[in-house]
Amino acid sequence: MFRIGNLKLPHKKHTADMKDARISTPNTVVLPMSQYIGAPALPIVKVGQQVCVGTKVAEADGKVSAAIHSPVSGIVKKIGDFLLANGKSCQAITIESDGKMTLDPGITPPVVNSAEDLCQAIRESGLVGLGGAGFPTANKLENAINKKIDMIIVNGAECEPYITIDNRTMIDGAEYVARGVKLIEKFIPGPQQIVIAIEENKPDAIAKLTALLKDDPKVRIEVLPSIYPQGAEKILIYNLTGRVVPEGKLPSDVGCVMFNVTSVAFMAHYLETGIPFVWKTVTVDGSAVKSPKNVTAPIGTSLRDILTFADADFNNLGKVLYGGPMMGIAAYNLDDPIYKNTSAVIALNKADSLPKTQYPCIHCGKCIQNCPVGLNPTAFVKAMNISDKNDRAAMLEKASVLSCIDCGCCSYVCPSRRPLVENNKLAKADLRKTLASKNN
Ligand code: SF4
Ligand code: SF4
Repeated sequence: MFRIGNLKLPHKKHTADMKDARISTPNTVVLPMSQYIGAPALPIVKVGQQVCVGTKVAEADGKVSAAIHSPVSGIVKKIGDFLLANGKSCQAITIESDGKMTLDPGITPPVVNSAEDLCQAIRESGLVGLGGAGFPTANKLENAINKKIDMIIVNGAECEPYITIDNRTMIDGAEYVARGVKLIEKFIPGPQQIVIAIEENKPDAIAKLTALLKDDPKVRIEVLPSIYPQGAEKILIYNLTGRVVPEGKLPSDVGCVMFNVTSVAFMAHYLETGIPFVWKTVTVDGSAVKSPKNVTAPIGTSLRDILTFADADFNNLGKVLYGGPMMGIAAYNLDDPIYKNTSAVIALNKADSLPKTQYPCIHCGKCIQNCPVGLNPTAFVKAMNISDKNDRAAMLEKASVLSCIDCGCCSYVCPSRRPLVENNKLAKADLRKTLASKNN
């Protein structure tokens, strides 16, 4: 059972009125091969090789994967193992910048005359979804072309506290958003509607895009309540259409394809310039950041460089998150880089990072009442206490743990501060492992 959701979180969007600020070129960038959902990319450069801005350094590996390009000019210094913040590992390419930011001479705008050309061009650009897990955008475009789709949704909801990068794209890059929408309309004519979904707390963005697209009968700007997790893919589809994306299925299975609004703006920019997806804007904020700002930086720039640019108080740094406070994951090393799908770097001071005392569950049911997907997180806790892995897997499957979208609402409302979302993630990983071992 889906619910519209009713969590009203403090917005803390301190950077909503700030244009982005460009960081100076870092000395090195680190490019992990796994920066999105799908198979890790395959390095195609060698140590010692000279690269330019936009040189492809890793090839997509398989159907759901994305190419990676150098965001700086310089020398490939290292290709080695890298431990990601989520505990998984992959290869990473380290590039030492020469400070010149020389553009690869082979870069030219792609020639696009058909939907297939558009897919191929976006695949070459290395773009992945910028609002969440980072599903390769070319795969979404393919779904929009090949499946029966009646609605394309451009997601400008941006419901997590602090984060304002999509808001700024819709204001400072409104023309690119509009041109991206027109591109989709031109090359993917099937869907009857293109809906741009924006939360009501972004009036400037609503005004800008309305002014640019009001004469297009196919485009509708839908203003939504500022309720968390309004921008989560499955929740937004439900709130706009009443359709439920079943567990294990994609939005295209219920007639929708969703693109993040900044991804749409990038598509337009890429078709005009040919410059691949190598720079990223992230919101840098939190109680340990003295100068919150939206920072545009080469992908692969270290958290340390980003936090230094925003004048973080390193002496009072407690916790650094990739992403917002609801769905973000903790970074364990400040020398780790920002990724293609990093939307924010939130740094909390020591006092705000202290572990909170947890109490036993009082069976109040708030976690169940506030789950937008209609799940029972306490059932996952009970299941994880079962020692037999097959019995555990059976109970987790029955309780639909794989439908959990990691939104964090259950943990947020729990008066006993139970670590519910953490347990959900462990439970999902545990179930997937058991299912995989059965299939082998
Ligand atoms: S994180 Fe909690 S509230 Fe969110 S979908 Fe999962 S169980 Fe439901
Ligand atoms: S919200 Fe917390 S205390 Fe209430 S039922 Fe859920 S886990 Fe128990």
